[in-house]
Amino acid sequence: MSAQEPAAPAADFIRIDGVTKMFGPFKAVDNVSLNIGKGELFALLGGSGCGKTTLLRMLAGFEVPTSGKIYIDGQDMDGVPAYERPVNMMFQSYALFPHMTVAANVGYGLKHEPMTPAQRQDRVKEMLGLVQMSHLADRKPHQLSGGQRQRVALARSLAKLPKLLLLDEPLGALDKKLREHTQFEIANIQYKLGITFVVVTHDQEEAMTLASRIAVMDHGVIRQIGAPSDIYENPNSRFVADFIGSTNMVDAEVTKVDSEGVEVEAPLLGARVKVAASGWSVGEKAALAFRPEKVTISRKKPVSAVNVLKGKVQDFGYFGKDSLYRIKLATGHVLSVNTVNAERVAAEKAVATWEDEVYLTISPASAMLFRGET
Ligand code: ATP
Repeated sequence: MSAQEPAAPAADFIRIDGVTKMFGPFKAVDNVSLNIGKGELFALLGGSGCGKTTLLRMLAGFEVPTSGKIYIDGQDMDGVPAYERPVNMMFQSYALFPHMTVAANVGYGLKHEPMTPAQRQDRVKEMLGLVQMSHLADRKPHQLSGGQRQRVALARSLAKLPKLLLLDEPLGALDKKLREHTQFEIANIQYKLGITFVVVTHDQEEAMTLASRIAVMDHGVIRQIGAPSDIYENPNSRFVADFIGSTNMVDAEVTKVDSEGVEVEAPLLGARVKVAASGWSVGEKAALAFRPEKVTISRKKPVSAVNVLKGKVQDFGYFGKDSLYRIKLATGHVLSVNTVNAERVAAEKAVATWEDEVYLTISPASAMLFRGET
């Protein structure tokens, strides 16, 4: 399966078909094809300038594709203006009306809906309840915290019950703790309403927590589409492995291939490493990668283990729930190793500390091999 052919849910609500967007000679979005199912919470994830906002704006109708097609709920969006699309967008700035109360802000978009005043009021109440802001309905935006303003903006963008809600960096203005909390809230609200959400973010943790599927974008193209666990555990390229989470990555060359997998020589590790992989030939160049938390660290030499490296603790950081080690190998190369502090232990009983000689074990199933530069 290529990155452009995701395992999309059967009922495709959004179909993006070979869409390219040029700004003059610059290709901001490059032949992207992507399907999103009804009721999905989908994230477009990528670094600054990768084209994710442009893609979102084309869904909203604020930009027109240079070529390719966009279908929403089976309807070709070609020539359909933003205000006629079954779509709403929540902007990063929230853009609340400062002179209106929370309730008036939420109800604003319902003014021209075919509803009675009582129905309108009920909808506003329902939306405020959903974002747990009922008790602050009479406040003005300047009397709210950043997190509360974000919730009002969410309620306002949901009030018309759009079929599709687009969220551009929805949590960008919030501090880390509030962001983590709000991520779960947004996911819960999305689940309750069953509205399709497409979220643009550059924050991988946010994408992983929020989304049922993620598209990783880079230079206008989609590099991989999958569930968060899929993208993390089975990145399809060096780029994605490096972009998502932390990775130890070194150049390697395949030295042996057998029924159990592949063995590679990695000069920077000063060792041969077995990898549970297939489809490789002896002599091929590769990038060998493994995540810091998949490495086991011990002071005692492990018996009968494969892929054991010896090194010395160069740096050690204790972060409460986990610890990060930087281990210097005999070659001088430094690896990152992450251990979870599942038990409460005294510092002197920690796995290892500065200058300790340690053994690192990497299971063949946790090691990954990638081809080429990307
Ligand atoms: P960020 O996270 O920084 O917002 P992004 O991935 O959302 O980045 P886009 O806003 O989609 O990026 O922009 C993609 C590229 O297209 C960027 O290089 C940007 O400079 C360019 N671009 C966007 N809008 C225009 C425009 N109206 N005219 C010219 N170039 C544009």
